[in-house]
Amino acid sequence: MDRRDFIKKAMLSAVAGAMVSPGAIAREAEKQVSVEERGTGILNYNPNMQYRPMGRTGVDVSALGFGMLRLPMLASGHVDMDQSVEMVHRAIEGGVNYIDTGRVYINGESEQAVGKALAGGWRDRVYVTSKSPWWVMERPEDFERLFDESRRAIGTDVIDFYHIHMIMHRGWREKVLPYRLIEKMEKLKAEGKIRFMGFSFHDSLQLFKQVVEYTPAWDFCLIQHNYLDYEYEAGVLGPKYAAANGMGLAVMKPVRTGFLARLPQSMKDALASTGVRKPDTEWALDYLWDIPEVSVAVSGMGSMADVEENLKYAAKASPNMLTPAEREALGAAIRAFRSTPGHIDCTGCYQCIPCPQNVAIGYIFAYVYNNYLVHRDLKRAMADYTVSMSPVQRGDPASSCVACGQCLPKCPRHLDIPRLMDRVKEALGK
Ligand code: SF4
Ligand code: SF4
Repeated sequence: MDRRDFIKKAMLSAVAGAMVSPGAIAREAEKQVSVEERGTGILNYNPNMQYRPMGRTGVDVSALGFGMLRLPMLASGHVDMDQSVEMVHRAIEGGVNYIDTGRVYINGESEQAVGKALAGGWRDRVYVTSKSPWWVMERPEDFERLFDESRRAIGTDVIDFYHIHMIMHRGWREKVLPYRLIEKMEKLKAEGKIRFMGFSFHDSLQLFKQVVEYTPAWDFCLIQHNYLDYEYEAGVLGPKYAAANGMGLAVMKPVRTGFLARLPQSMKDALASTGVRKPDTEWALDYLWDIPEVSVAVSGMGSMADVEENLKYAAKASPNMLTPAEREALGAAIRAFRSTPGHIDCTGCYQCIPCPQNVAIGYIFAYVYNNYLVHRDLKRAMADYTVSMSPVQRGDPASSCVACGQCLPKCPRHLDIPRLMDRVKEALGK
């Protein structure tokens, strides 16, 4: 049915007695045509899902992506494959067309779960991603080996969106450039083994710009962003910069590894004080979907309830969706977080690294310690602190600081970093 036919039909119904205003008819017609027109060519189109262009790739991705890092686990310590497969199928039925995994996620079991879920025809309904981990490479040829392992585990000849995993200053300098990983990705793309090339990122905005500018061949990137960490890593400027360079943008950790899905009372109160009420997770996702440059919010879903909840929120995901009152509410929540007694006024901008001792300064202050102050949950803080950090990835803990002072002049907030490291050591024990 085209727009004219739809309006005619709707007008006839109105005349026949339905109480429909001409404005409502026009709006409904717009919606109807939009559904029919936009549905054409969108992979796995579902009118209850929103889709967005993925930069210069020419494809539309679902506003909600399935992050396969936080899958349900069995008591044996392995992924619950049956439940994971069911969840992925439900997400695909709900219109999700972007499945995000990585070679090292859950020791390779994440890719296996993707492979199981996409067998039997489901593969054709989604874009599948994976990531090449530079830190496990001992020689340049390991890149091809890891890529083939990913293809085998997922059960696909072609990976749609392939990333260099977790670019940070150390990996960039020691592996990505000398091993010529970007050139290797370009070759895979030329051979048709990947469709689009990109990277995931954890470092400063300065390095982010350097990586983006390294080659016009990048199609997309994946960054970490949420409403609490305005300047953390690539920050809020990262999406603008990526979009200005024609890249699609996926955003990971929308709920800040669970923190924004279980807000402390002070933040809940601040949000509610403005009169706008919605669940914690919905706030976090709406903030990302409001940013026009964000193509897909990759949400790590660990249960069927997560999938159902996120699908419901994604149905209304649109750019510039937040009202002035909602923006004010988020501002109030940020202020409440920053008012926590003992809060370190570090934005996680990473301008102070590299540290000669490889201390992960911004990550420790902005992410681990400030979170800890709010919940005072040492077990949870240590999980962030020890599991997410390693000498080759995020960096070393506060106890590695030798108080050399080299970072001091680099901090725009003039933080006394060595003294604050002592405070972290005292609280977290290392
Ligand atoms: S003072 Fe500590 S954190 Fe700062 S550069 Fe020196 S060792 Fe690194
Ligand atoms: S300590 Fe300063 S320079 Fe380092 S991440 Fe925090 S705010 Fe940025």
